[in-house]
Amino acid sequence: MKITRSSKCYFKKFITRKKQEQLELVMKEYSRIVNQFIGKYQWKISNKKTKRDKKTQFDLCYKDYIHSIDTWLSARLIKNAFREGYGMVQSAKSNATTRKEHYRRPYHYGNKMILSETIATAEFNPKTKEFDLLVSLGSIGNKIKIIIPLKKNNHFNEFNNDKAWIISKSITITNKYIQFSFEKEIQKKDISDVEELRKGKFADEYKSMQNNLITFSKDTPEFVEQRNNIYNYINTTIQKNKIIGLDCGINKLLASTDNQTFGEGYKKLLEKLSRKKQKSKAWYRCKEEIREFIDYNIKNLNYNLYNLLVVEDLDNVHKNMKLKLRLSKNMRRLVSKWTFRYIYERLFAYCDLNRVRYRQVKSFNNSRTCPICNYTNQKNRKVQSDFCCLECGYSDNADYSASKRAVIRYLSWKPTVSNPKQINEEKLLYNFV
Ligand SMILES: [Zn+2]
Repeated sequence: MKITRSSKCYFKKFITRKKQEQLELVMKEYSRIVNQFIGKYQWKISNKKTKRDKKTQFDLCYKDYIHSIDTWLSARLIKNAFREGYGMVQSAKSNATTRKEHYRRPYHYGNKMILSETIATAEFNPKTKEFDLLVSLGSIGNKIKIIIPLKKNNHFNEFNNDKAWIISKSITITNKYIQFSFEKEIQKKDISDVEELRKGKFADEYKSMQNNLITFSKDTPEFVEQRNNIYNYINTTIQKNKIIGLDCGINKLLASTDNQTFGEGYKKLLEKLSRKKQKSKAWYRCKEEIREFIDYNIKNLNYNLYNLLVVEDLDNVHKNMKLKLRLSKNMRRLVSKWTFRYIYERLFAYCDLNRVRYRQVKSFNNSRTCPICNYTNQKNRKVQSDFCCLECGYSDNADYSASKRAVIRYLSWKPTVSNPKQINEEKLLYNFV
C-alpha cells in the first residue's frame, strides 16, 4: 500500500505585493469556477471510484463542458478547477455514505488551489543564489505568469533526499505556502497474532505459570527453573511478535525490552535547562536543544525490526506515583509535561512513518512490579538503577524491567465492556488500522 506525506514551503516573505495580488485574483476566479462546477454537475458524480465513475470524470472534466464556462482562466486551469470540484463532491458523498448522513453540497472557499504539472512546474535546482526552489505558474489565462521563489526546509529535504519517497507532480497552493506531497510504497505490518494473545491467551498462560511458581519453595532448583521459564516466555513472546516496549527515564531517555538504551546524557540537558532563567533566550535555546536531542534519539530506533511499539504513558507526571517514588524532589522539578508529550509525539510520528503500531499503557506501578511474579513493592527498587524482587529474587536493570512490564500490561489487558475502568487503562492510538 501507499502512504502520502506532505511538506509546506512558505513564500509570503519572498514575493512582491503585486504578485501576491495577482495570485489572489487567480485564486478567487478559480474558486468561483470550482463552485460553479459543483453546482452544475454534482448530481452526476457518484460516491465511489469505479470504472464508470472514471468515464464520468473524464466526460465532465475534460470534454466540452470546459467551454460552457464563462471565464478568463485558461482551459488548462479550468480542468484543474473541475477536477478539484469533482474530488470535493465525491469525498463529500462518500463521507455522507459512511456516516449514514445526507449528502451536503461542498463549498470551495478560495483558500487553496490544487494544480497539476500543466500549470505548475517546479525547478529543484535553480540558478539563483538566494533560493533553491522555484515554482512557476503558467498557462493561467490573461497572460499571467507567476514565479514563486522558495527555500527548501528540513522537513522537505527529509522526503526529497530519500529516494523511497516519490514527489507528486501536482502541488497545492495557498496565499502563504506551497504544499508538496510525497508518496511511498510500504508493506502492511500484521499484528493479528498479538491481538489474538490479548484475547486472554497471554494472560492465562502467564497466570498459570505464576501459579505454578508459588507451588515450589523459594530458592529450590525447581523454583529457579520455573522463574526462568516465565522470563523466557515473556522474552520469546516479545521477540516472536516483533514487539518493542519502552521505558522513558531521566538518566537516559529510553530503555527498551531488547536491553538497549537511547539518549545517555538526557539528565544533563534537563539540569542545564533548570539552571536557565525561565523564558530567557538561553532557556528557549536549551529547550530547542532538548527537542533536537529527543528527535535524534527517537529517529535512531530501528523501526524496521518491529511491528508494535508499547510505551508507558507518563503524561500525568506530577501526579505520577512512579516518578514521585523514583525521583527526588530535585529531579522531579526537572521533568515537565512538555518533554513527555514531545517524546510521545515524535515516537508516534516515526511509528506512523514506518508503519509500526503505536500503543500507550498506563505506567502505574510499572517500575515497582516484578515482571515474573507480579509482586509490587517500592522496595523492589532499593537502588535507582536495579530491580530486585523481594518475593521471587528476580533481578534486572530497572529500566529494562519496567519496559517489560509495559508490554506485559499491554498483552494481558482484556478488553471487556463490563469493565469501563479497564478501558481507560490504555490509550489506544490506532495508526493505519
Ligand atoms: Zn518477583
